[in-house]
Amino acid sequence: MKVLLSLGSNIGDSLSILENAITDICNHEQITLLKKSSFYITKPVGFLDQDDFLNSCISIETNLDAKSLLLFCQDIEQKYKRVRLFKNGPRTLDIDIIAIENMTLNEEDLIVPHARMHERAFVLVPLNEIEKDFYVENLGFVHELLAKLPKSSLNDIKCKE
Ligand code: AMP
Repeated sequence: MKVLLSLGSNIGDSLSILENAITDICNHEQITLLKKSSFYITKPVGFLDQDDFLNSCISIETNLDAKSLLLFCQDIEQKYKRVRLFKNGPRTLDIDIIAIENMTLNEEDLIVPHARMHERAFVLVPLNEIEKDFYVENLGFVHELLAKLPKSSLNDIKCKE
């Protein structure tokens, strides 16, 4: 199945953390990297008094089931000694499952498509770079979701050269 993942970091050497985490994800023998976005510098959402984030998205092909993929992503978060002091607070590494092709899930520990993905420029801008024609179940194509975002939210995100 094809899966879209979002990665973010705002503690430590975020660029190395994201690059190494993507390498770790794709070293899994049941995961193949399809596409990788640029890195984007983004303003925090929710709790504003913290450093900017670095975000990126990847698309992968995998035959892992969704729950195993979530556990694997959480293992990688732990490897980078993920610190998260409180909800929406700073963190060394966050990996979210954004969408899975032809699948919706509504379980206690896994909601797919990700519950807030359609509101987040830091998810939709990198995704649109690599997978604009991906259909997100129940929501629409990535390029349509990006077009529906308030234009002001795009001011808070810029591509890192
Ligand atoms: P956070 O890392 O703060 O984004 O939230 C992590 C929690 O969200 C974990 O307990 C996960 O079980 C839960 N969760 C629910 N849906 C998802 C998803 N689509 N991707 C990643 N974590 C999810």
